[in-house]
Amino acid sequence: MNQPRINQSRRIVTELPGPRSKELDARRQAAVAPGVSSVFPLYIDRAEGAILVDVDGNSLIDLGSGIAVVSVGHADPAVVHAVRDQVARFTHTCFMVSPYEQYVAVCEELNARTPGEHEKRSALFNSGAEAVENAVKIARHATGRDGVIAFDHAYHGRTNLTMALTAKNMPYRNRFGPFAPEVYRVAMSYPYRDPEGMTGEEAAARAIEQMERQVGVENAACVLIEPIQGEGGFIVPAPGFLPAIAAWCRDNGVVFIADEIQTGFCRTGDWFACDDEGVVPDLITTAKAMAGGMPLAAVTGRAELMDGVHVGGLGGTYGGNPVSCVAALASIRTMIDHDLAGAARAIAATVTERFSTMQVDHPGIGDIRGRGAMQAIELVRPGTKEPDPDAAKRIVAACHRSGVVTLSCGSYGNVIRLLPPLVITPELLDEGLVVLADAVASEL
Ligand SMILES: *Cc1c(COP(=O)(O)O)cnc(C)c1O
Repeated sequence: MNQPRINQSRRIVTELPGPRSKELDARRQAAVAPGVSSVFPLYIDRAEGAILVDVDGNSLIDLGSGIAVVSVGHADPAVVHAVRDQVARFTHTCFMVSPYEQYVAVCEELNARTPGEHEKRSALFNSGAEAVENAVKIARHATGRDGVIAFDHAYHGRTNLTMALTAKNMPYRNRFGPFAPEVYRVAMSYPYRDPEGMTGEEAAARAIEQMERQVGVENAACVLIEPIQGEGGFIVPAPGFLPAIAAWCRDNGVVFIADEIQTGFCRTGDWFACDDEGVVPDLITTAKAMAGGMPLAAVTGRAELMDGVHVGGLGGTYGGNPVSCVAALASIRTMIDHDLAGAARAIAATVTERFSTMQVDHPGIGDIRGRGAMQAIELVRPGTKEPDPDAAKRIVAACHRSGVVTLSCGSYGNVIRLLPPLVITPELLDEGLVVLADAVASEL
């Protein structure tokens, strides 16, 4: 890996937030809609690897990757080079008007790397929500059915249809309705909160009973699921759950859509989270980590489903922007060249060991879960499973005060999640985890 130009270490030189961040925040209050919020108001000047440098010169450890986006690290040299070159060539023609190779090459990569050996096609979009919307369009078009089945604790975006698909009211849905119709919600496999000993197959049977009773096979266009839920709390379904849901879809002509927008591109230690149990989705949505921080999203799926849509039925002005496409090709190259799936597995080993040590002293850590470099702790009142969102808030705030960016999540707001860049050095990861452990010790 290239020698980083920004020293990969934490360095706090002002109070946090510092004076320049405070100044910018005052301007922000007057200019930016408050509905768009920030976890911690440190304004960023530069970033590299797993370090963010703010406008006051503080170096922060990034354990969030801008929500699972910069898996290849900030300012990955290959991404920077590719983007610079492409910006100077051309920034936009609209693929629907005058096409270019970069778009085709990204689709080839997606078709080759997503689960399954079958013939595939891809279409490119700008955001995760847009990809989910299009996956539903394709599934409805292919089946001639309306019903879309999603799960408890699901997060699929903030547009009207994806709000309808998202499970959590605050902050995502509250007063933003009415929502798109023909969306149904069934039980997720949530091992920590399901009845003790419930297997993945049993949890799937519970969901399937709900689908058949509430929707009916003849009305179900698709089942949409995050193989590991992201915003909902890093919920890893029990083994056997996903294969059973996928099999039910196959048997009933229902399109199985895996939303791998957060889990995709090496985050879980495989290219995709579905790879873990050999689940092959009919359609898969990707975004976040695909393009190293440039906005890009995709739907990839079985050729017979994708080819069914009439010419002109899919697209958008910016979808598959050439600068984003070259960033994706460079990111994928970096993932291969530096074995970032292997890096994610190494991160998992370090993080889970540290979490287990913390749990011994802190019974408020009710559950440790995740896969690869997406790992979380769920906080509860000791001796119960009652969610403790205030503890999560306090711990995240304490980490921020010490210059470590962590994020909370979960339907109950009581989960702390780590999504470090996969290129984070072992020393920096360790330092970040020490800060987190101190925060847990002082706040729990
Ligand atoms: C982030 C996310 C989305 C939405 O992506 P945007 O780019 O924010 O629209 C959809 N699904 C999952 C699983 C996500 O994590």
